[in-house]
Amino acid sequence: KEESTLSIVVVGASGDLARRKIFPALFALFNEDRLPENFTIFGYARSIMTDEELRNMISKTLTCRVDKRENCNEKMDAFLKRCFYQSGQYSSEEHFLELNNKLKGKEAGRLSNRLFYLAIPPNMFVDVARCAKHRASSENGWTRVIVEKPFGRDTESSRELTRGLKQYLSEDQIFRIDHHLGEELVENLLVLRFSNLVFQPLWSRNYIRNVQLIFSEDFGTEGRGRYFDNYGIIRDIMQNHLLQILALFAMDTPVSLDAEDIRNEKVKVLRSVKPVQLEDVIIGQYKGDCDGNASYPSYTDDMTVSNNSLTPTFAAATLFINNAQWDGVPFLMIAGKALHSKRTEIRVQFRHVPGNLYNHKSGTDLDNATNELVIRIQPDEAIYLKINNKVPGLGMRLDRSELNLLYKARYPREISDAYERLLIDAIEGERRLFIRSDELDAAWQVLTPLLKELEEKKVAPELYTYGSGGPVGVHYLAAQHNIRWGDFGYED
Ligand code: NAP
Repeated sequence: KEESTLSIVVVGASGDLARRKIFPALFALFNEDRLPENFTIFGYARSIMTDEELRNMISKTLTCRVDKRENCNEKMDAFLKRCFYQSGQYSSEEHFLELNNKLKGKEAGRLSNRLFYLAIPPNMFVDVARCAKHRASSENGWTRVIVEKPFGRDTESSRELTRGLKQYLSEDQIFRIDHHLGEELVENLLVLRFSNLVFQPLWSRNYIRNVQLIFSEDFGTEGRGRYFDNYGIIRDIMQNHLLQILALFAMDTPVSLDAEDIRNEKVKVLRSVKPVQLEDVIIGQYKGDCDGNASYPSYTDDMTVSNNSLTPTFAAATLFINNAQWDGVPFLMIAGKALHSKRTEIRVQFRHVPGNLYNHKSGTDLDNATNELVIRIQPDEAIYLKINNKVPGLGMRLDRSELNLLYKARYPREISDAYERLLIDAIEGERRLFIRSDELDAAWQVLTPLLKELEEKKVAPELYTYGSGGPVGVHYLAAQHNIRWGDFGYED
């Protein structure tokens, strides 16, 4: 509506997240004409900056997508003209009142909607929520607040944060981001499951032998370990990203695509996940390596990490879902830093074909060559299904082949960044991809007992070489559940 205005306040505008992700995503939305006609962006942080200095800082990270390069510089200038800066403390209502006055000036008496993006350390979230509520809420439109993980360190601290935020905000004003939920293939998971008859009947313990959820990075903390060392890979990746993907993968069919219906199903399945036991987990930490040309540091070489840190940079865990659909199916989660590849994927291994006619004729071990569906979320998005196929020619020789949907071949248009989707959803009030407080609580309950035990018993992580496939213990963990496991987790 032309008469209404949208004010976006990026709190922590001087920081890394704001600079690398939020401002570029806002510009991309502007460049796609997805932002409303009347919008203003305010950066807010303690650093002293002028509007011009903020614009200068932002301009370095803006880019135009290949198909949106026309008038790129003009578009950037037009966007930057809508960006302003207000310096202030995060706990000062007086400073938020100053921000409010500036916002009102831009809103010029029109119906105003306000979106606060909290790109600041989480110990400041509640203070900002208080100041925004008391001094800078919209008087005639909506006020929403986006927060990013970490949402606590365990069940108790997460509940405390939720209680703190809810003193000032209602649940429907809080948009908890897990940016992986904004990724194209994660969104597509429900489409794949619920709009393809070929998959729907197979999606249970009857046909699926195991599921692997893999998140691997090929770099370490590289001098930015201060935050990570306090959290570790289980909190940083498993508790949020991988459990969210598991919930979308395993949840029952929602009543509708409405956010509350989807989130109800996610909570249900998360509450059915058995809390993870210590014996079902392998933890690791990377150690340095030198391959002649280059040397790679160990985790504790990072100056921001303590020398005797036991923080896991790698974890593999087997999870089980106690419900009729998934009883006994191992969900193997892997998350690690400084591994040999960067990828996020879901691998679904199906059971063998009972009484397979070709088992002995083919010369291939078909029992080990069961069908496998792979959903590669990052990089190079793809969905492929491994099938057994006859090699053309005389005789009967079988081969494993792939039905392959490679996104860059099928959909050449550049895929939007996850933050773009999440920002536009928050602006439009679409909550499907944001985490509700009961979901968050259920996810913490799966891992909190394990995290406590690891810390109380001071369990030492198994060392693995930087750039390798992770600790060898993973192979034993996989073997316990009869999971086919190649060099770091997968055989292609
Ligand atoms: P950051 O650069 O460390 O901090 C953002 C801004 O917050 C800083 O520019 C600083 O601004 C202010 N700040 C920093 N430390 C503070 C402190 N101790 N007390 C008060 N203010 C402080 O953080 P970030 O990497 O942008 O991340 C922001 C939030 O998003 C964090 O909660 C982080 O965990 C989360 N997150 C980040 C990423 C990422 O890619 N960076 C990804 C996922 C989640 P002023 O000094 O100017 O006030």
